Amino acid sequence: MQRDMSELIYSAAEQPDGDIKTINTTCAYCGVGCGIEAKVNPHTREVTVQGDERHPANYGRLCSKGSSLGETIDLSSRLLHPEINNQRVSWNSALDTVADKFAQIIKEHGPDAVAFYGSGQLLTEDYYVANKLMKGFIGSANIDTNSRLCMSSAVTGHKRAFGTDTVPTCYEDLENTDLIILSGSNTAWCHPIVFQRIRNARDRNPNLKVVVIDPRRTATCDIADLHLPIASGADVKLFNGLLSFLGKNSALDNDFIAQHTEGFEQTLTAADEDAGDLERVAEYCKLNAEDVAQFYQWYQDTDKVMTVYSQGIKQSSSGADKVNAIINCHLATGSIGKVGCGPLSLTGQPNAMGGREVGGLANQLAAHMEFHIEGDHDRLSRFWNTDTLASKPGLPAVELFDAIADGRIKAVWIMATNPVVSLPNADKVKAALADCDFVVVSDCVAQSDTLALANVKLPALGWSEKDGMVTNSERRLSHQRALLSPAGESKADWWIISQVARRLGFIDAFDYQSPIDIFREHAALSGFENEPASIKNPQARLRDFNISALKNISVEQYQNFAPTQWPITEQTPKGQQRFFADGRFYTNTNHAQFIALQTRAPGNAVSKRFPLVLNTGRLRDQWHTMTRSALAPRLNQHRPEPFVEVHPGDAKTYGLQQGALAHLLSSWGQMYARVMITDSQQKGNLFVPMHWSEQYATHGRMGALVNPVVDPLSGQPESKHTPVSVRPFNANWHGFILSRQPLGKLDIEYQVTVNADGYYRYELAGMKAQDNWSTWSQALLLQQVDLDWQEFDDTGTRVYRGASYRDQQLQALVCIAPSVDEALLPSRGWLGSVFAKPTLEVHERMALLAGVPTVGTVDVGATICACFNVGEKTILNAIDEHKLTTYQEVGVCCKAGTNCGSCVPEIKQLLQQSDLATSN
Ligand code: SF4
Repeated sequence: MQRDMSELIYSAAEQPDGDIKTINTTCAYCGVGCGIEAKVNPHTREVTVQGDERHPANYGRLCSKGSSLGETIDLSSRLLHPEINNQRVSWNSALDTVADKFAQIIKEHGPDAVAFYGSGQLLTEDYYVANKLMKGFIGSANIDTNSRLCMSSAVTGHKRAFGTDTVPTCYEDLENTDLIILSGSNTAWCHPIVFQRIRNARDRNPNLKVVVIDPRRTATCDIADLHLPIASGADVKLFNGLLSFLGKNSALDNDFIAQHTEGFEQTLTAADEDAGDLERVAEYCKLNAEDVAQFYQWYQDTDKVMTVYSQGIKQSSSGADKVNAIINCHLATGSIGKVGCGPLSLTGQPNAMGGREVGGLANQLAAHMEFHIEGDHDRLSRFWNTDTLASKPGLPAVELFDAIADGRIKAVWIMATNPVVSLPNADKVKAALADCDFVVVSDCVAQSDTLALANVKLPALGWSEKDGMVTNSERRLSHQRALLSPAGESKADWWIISQVARRLGFIDAFDYQSPIDIFREHAALSGFENEPASIKNPQARLRDFNISALKNISVEQYQNFAPTQWPITEQTPKGQQRFFADGRFYTNTNHAQFIALQTRAPGNAVSKRFPLVLNTGRLRDQWHTMTRSALAPRLNQHRPEPFVEVHPGDAKTYGLQQGALAHLLSSWGQMYARVMITDSQQKGNLFVPMHWSEQYATHGRMGALVNPVVDPLSGQPESKHTPVSVRPFNANWHGFILSRQPLGKLDIEYQVTVNADGYYRYELAGMKAQDNWSTWSQALLLQQVDLDWQEFDDTGTRVYRGASYRDQQLQALVCIAPSVDEALLPSRGWLGSVFAKPTLEVHERMALLAGVPTVGTVDVGATICACFNVGEKTILNAIDEHKLTTYQEVGVCCKAGTNCGSCVPEIKQLLQQSDLATSN
């Protein structure tokens, strides 16, 4: 049920309690859009967070990333002043330079010679202004966004089926359904609070079944009644097969099809032709036919079905087709617009949906208007009072950077994103920016791979300082509120863009004084001529996105805005949970469109030279390119290094060893990664995380490997399927340094930097050993005069350890060995606990040099629970000592898994491991 808005009014967004203020805001990370209650000390800038119990996205829960937001707002990593060519300048100078250079290039080469590249991190108000400037007044549609990499296939699929980019469902449906299909989504790690809602729903409803469709056996499979480890890219075949099966078994909603849809016959015929034989579907998808039959049977037998999908569906050269293959099945069974039914695309970013609302993609106009729909261009031109509105779509992300590479685009402004790491063929992107005439980057951090190539750096507000709206995956607008004053001279993105716009001569159109001015305009535009065309208003067109009830929102209402799902109109002032309950869609005929589909293979097939399929994705505790999440030490402990997951058979074939390093190659680039051998990975497939940049790892950028193949309809890159090869990285030596002082970039082939609690950890490997490790180590670690040095050097075994102390407190430790053998390179978990000690006794120092913990020393092991910093060995010890048999008992004993629950699957694995060890 839709909750009464009055229950959700944030009666005071700011509630002082002495010096501490309590402010409700939203999480900066994923598209779940969790509400946060922040306690803020404005004097010390300390912020502690907990879940907002009133927020309908999370009802008080937060995952490990959200819970550690307060640890990421340290000023030391911030860009605090505008810079030109790395020199500090005034805001006036920076803004004049940006405006002058853009104006010059536009004058000489036309508006399509410039571009903006934005981000789902921008707030709606920022996004609105950026889109208005580029499309409305510069006159080019060359504005695209990193959301292209995350959800553009869903946008295309929605528009093809519904006539609009409409998410029909809501999170509450997950708690009122009987079958959830999680397709191409490691929900447990990527959208942990949605996963927790599903887990809880499953616990409450014994009829609820969960099917996970994913080539990998991920943590999400922990709640799966059925896991279908589908071959990479085969989803259209599986869902075409489902449609064909439903047709053959008379499991269709013929009334719904007849009354509310078009194109069914052709679509069913296409599905029959493509996937009419279940055995052959199973063979193509590399699945067990009985499992496929079970999945189809459950779908047929269940009235309330939800298909929740994410990047495994969307990041594909047939991403839009996959989305429509899913929607076809929901339309065929009338499983849409009802409680507990429908497709739900989980968006990656906090405001990917807000970006869609304002037209942040190069092929959209604002407020869900379109280049190709008659009347929309004229309507928007009149509303913005401009005669220079772009008349054709601009370039989507990958093409946009191609155009920078070949010189068609000569100036680019990148906002709040890091394309040198995240885009496919990332080395080409890097070279393109290095050669581009003029690169502007506005961001809140001082360093990123992209900022390193900027001519002008503009300091933007970060989370905790910005103020404006975001929209989550279920269309819910929430207010992200400022907690702190701006860091240094940083400014809101909307202000920066407006100032440049005014310098370009567009003074009246960008005369905004605060975010609410922009939000009111955005809301008014959404309702402008938004009704069915009539004699009275022949220019009108009914559109799904409409928040016009907020066009005159007062300052107080804006500040206290309760999270609400659009549409928000006079008819639906409290929002609306679902779309299409009336069976009316936004196409010309008001009928939903079936899309006839044929399975297409991924863009690049494996070959003799590149025989393995590379899959990429997110980790539980990191966010995007780690510019913020890596600042929280506890988020760096679960997976501290870039790694590659390899099936045991492939590891044997390619000579890879657990814990050693691998060198991955594709036609586009290379990557180094730590080997993780696991049978959760299919043979012939590899998986690498998407997060590491050159800031944190040498050759750790997965984007360098990924093929620049895109979906021809949506422009979304195929980041889940790149042919690669892998071989051992034959280092001559391995080692690590732990140091209280940062060491910066060392001249070593493999270096990964990990921010730990009170020290930095550097994982190292090199092709050539130092002639003298002692000399090298002391030159590096004895920069300060008052340090003592102790060392152990065994030239026979090539093991070296050295440690520096100040007043008997460990300052730095270096450990070098010829291999990654654990007996030669001591446990980092143990050493972390040594760093926490104020002083070390003589026997403890000797233990360090010996590489063996003293008796009774705590070695917590690798972090499992990031929320409470609980290590693997702590959990195993608890299981062993207290004879624990369930993850709930583990939680009671050592708190692990009791907050966000994302580590529960790993705790269960440890329980199984322990059980096996006992029974053996
Ligand atoms: S699931 Fe986690 S990362 Fe996503 S919005 Fe919620 S707290 Fe933030």
